[in-house]
Amino acid sequence: MRILLANPRGFCAGVHMAIDVVDQLIDLCPDEPVYVYHEIVHNKHVVDRFRSRGVTFVEDVAEVPEGSLVVFSAHGISPRVREEAAERNLRSVDATCPLVTKVHMEAIRYARQGYQILLIGHANHQEVVGTRGEAPDSIQVVESPDDIPGLRIDDPERLVYLTQTTLSTDDAQVIIDALTHAFPNIKRPPHSDICYATTNRQHAVRQIAPESDVVLVIGSKNSSNSVRLTEISRNAGVDAILIDDVTELDLDRFMGDETVLVTAGASAPEDLVAELCRTLLERFGGEIVLRDVRLEDTEFDLPVSLKRLMRERDIDPKDRRIRIKPPEITETLYGAVPLTVSAQAG
Ligand code: SF4
Repeated sequence: MRILLANPRGFCAGVHMAIDVVDQLIDLCPDEPVYVYHEIVHNKHVVDRFRSRGVTFVEDVAEVPEGSLVVFSAHGISPRVREEAAERNLRSVDATCPLVTKVHMEAIRYARQGYQILLIGHANHQEVVGTRGEAPDSIQVVESPDDIPGLRIDDPERLVYLTQTTLSTDDAQVIIDALTHAFPNIKRPPHSDICYATTNRQHAVRQIAPESDVVLVIGSKNSSNSVRLTEISRNAGVDAILIDDVTELDLDRFMGDETVLVTAGASAPEDLVAELCRTLLERFGGEIVLRDVRLEDTEFDLPVSLKRLMRERDIDPKDRRIRIKPPEITETLYGAVPLTVSAQAG
């Protein structure tokens, strides 16, 4: 079997930051329970691993005992959740990805300027719920072009669209084209709201998938950007399977002579990718070909709220930088595998 391993894949800077925040809190406050509002990132294994270390995940801040430590997840929250946490005297640490915060800021700014905002995204996704909460009277969610006739538009000259950060760039463009057709003067955000990590992982799949027989995506079913990778692959005419880990894969479907593209959503740990590759090679033999499509060097600083907590405990935040670990094919993770590295211009 020939395994094409996409790079970039897996953890983005926002996920590194969010996971590091919880890691550091466990370390800083060993005698205190840590609560996380919503899944810290949309990955079953990441959440289960934190649960096994004593972290409690809640879907309502009312479940968090008064005065406790609570982390807001990478997807962001609406101001209402922040207020409820303050009313309960919770000590909050905000692990919202800065690229999600950027969309919140845009929503607030355009709402203040009197724009109606059309937010392209999935209405029930945590990120969209949070962004919408910033200006609920000004924001309408658009999930598909079919939603356009039902929109309540006061002034077509004072309209702007924003997008969820983890959409399929293909699908978002279809909706943007339909909006632009319906409202020719709709304003676009200064920069695309679909984040660099989503864009890069999709670009790698779009580029490499046509060389493969099937695409395997490691990621959870509720991870928007992981699901989008399967859609991008199918758009390119190649079947794709989304699995949390190798145990969900039916190995009997393979003959062993296939070319398989392996990638991972932005919240999926690299050890699960390695386990999948090891299992395939042990069963079918073959090699891994690493496809470097785009290099990433984005990193985020620790959240201000975490730095404040560190200073309260006489810890200098400068000594606690977020540890970005780009995926590497180490022997510890992957075993001794035949490996070729092939760089591709993005
Ligand atoms: S996928 Fe993008 S928006 Fe979401 S956490 Fe990662 S970098 Fe931030």
